[in-house]
Amino acid sequence: MSTKLGIVYLVGAGPGDPGLITVRGRKLIESADAIVFDTLANRRLLPAGARETGHPELYDVGKRGGDRQSVKQDEINELLVRLGREGKRVVRLKGGDPFVFGRGSEEAQALNDASIPFEVVPGVTAGIAAAAYAGIPVTHRGMSPLVTFVTGHEDPSKPDTQTNWKALAQAGGTIVLYMGVKTLPAISAALIEGGMPGEIPAAAVQWGTRAKQRTVVGTLASLPQLAADNGITAPVITVIGWPVILRDEMNWFENRPLFGRRIVVTRASHQSGGLSEKLADLGADVIEMPATQIARLDLAPLRTELTQLGNYQWLIFTSQNAVAIFWEQLLGAGRDARALAGLQIAEVGPTTAGALLEHGIRVDVIPERFVAEGVLESLNERDDVAGARILYVTAEGSREVLPDGLSEMGAEVNVLEIYRSIRDGAGASGLRRALENDTVAAVTFTSASSVRAYLDAVGEDMSLKAPAITIGPQTTEAVNAAGIELLAEAEESTTDGLVAAVERAFA
Ligand code: SAH
Repeated sequence: MSTKLGIVYLVGAGPGDPGLITVRGRKLIESADAIVFDTLANRRLLPAGARETGHPELYDVGKRGGDRQSVKQDEINELLVRLGREGKRVVRLKGGDPFVFGRGSEEAQALNDASIPFEVVPGVTAGIAAAAYAGIPVTHRGMSPLVTFVTGHEDPSKPDTQTNWKALAQAGGTIVLYMGVKTLPAISAALIEGGMPGEIPAAAVQWGTRAKQRTVVGTLASLPQLAADNGITAPVITVIGWPVILRDEMNWFENRPLFGRRIVVTRASHQSGGLSEKLADLGADVIEMPATQIARLDLAPLRTELTQLGNYQWLIFTSQNAVAIFWEQLLGAGRDARALAGLQIAEVGPTTAGALLEHGIRVDVIPERFVAEGVLESLNERDDVAGARILYVTAEGSREVLPDGLSEMGAEVNVLEIYRSIRDGAGASGLRRALENDTVAAVTFTSASSVRAYLDAVGEDMSLKAPAITIGPQTTEAVNAAGIELLAEAEESTTDGLVAAVERAFA
């Protein structure tokens, strides 16, 4: 076991919209050895491919959709202490803010008791965010000069309740209720009995800030029945107070043109040209068709080699991804391109040289054919390969033609596998489920090949379940050939043109 103590960051994940995490929170997620997350933290915040590679380690300690945790608090505390003792950088990712009804403070106490260093990264709490996304400011000058956050976890009709509901009823201002769907009838009754007028406006916001947000508005007296009639279940924020009427003027989120529409984007996210972001900004619930993802492997061996690059004469990259991850680690170690000064550099893929040039590095060998054999031919013509030490930076399980060939030429090759390409199986089944349930409003296509990739991913039968919106005539031809219904075609064959077509289709 390591003698070095780790550190645990209690990080607020925000209320659900993945854009509502702090910059610091996101950076810590990117550099974590382990992430312990619960129900209300959006899964989209987790690093791509972590589940498949085990880097970082993921611990799911929550249950979806409910208020109860499936793992007991004691066990979570013990897990955090154990990971800290193992010397890991741990992110404890909690919905909203870690110290607002999140039991983060109990975790901090446990860490303190065990002398494990910890830090707290606050988050945007659901009580403020869900209200804001429902068009309700929690305070408003002249209308509500104070706001109270209260847990509905305790039933006011039980004798052991710690909340003075009568005092709350008389304090005035806005009441924001967490965890209070089941207890809402009792709480409403207690507040009215305490002297709060039953006609004060009140709203229940389910899954606030997510694309599936739902809001029910009534009064303190009527909301419990309304919420039940509308099938509102946890997680819900209930807001009681006069500012609720401002929703009539401020309901920006649910009024976005594509709010509540589920749209599939069939390009890989890193090359989607911002299509997903643009649709999401208009309120769409975007599902990206799962593409191959790049998952980092354990990078400790790479970090070691970066400290001893002087041992090598050659550095070979097999892909753009290898260059990107190598560079990220080089910069992370406080170094830059000068660290490669004495090295000869070669690459295999055609886009790899471009990626290197972006970092100010011109490759020494450009093969005529961009396959391992081509690189070997080119290197074979040189007299500085035999006897050289070569660092070969590549993906897991890549072909061994090149390292073997180089060894035959008398070089000493160190093969460093730093990432793995994985198919997102979970993403594919999620997409099929959405199609099966008829919840997809449209599928966007940006090329004939994206139509083929979609057919591959979901199968022909399932592909007929939702209509298409295409970027232009050639893509439309492919859609027609596949027998998929066409909803719209972009007037201008650009990402913006496609976005406009989606907007028009649902205007
Ligand atoms: N630490 C969290 C709260 C944890 S308690 C925070 O600061 O937001 C869990 C309760 O938070 C849920 O029962 C629900 O009342 C509320 N909640 C969390 N996320 C929510 C969301 N997206 N929409 C509505 N309520 C939410």
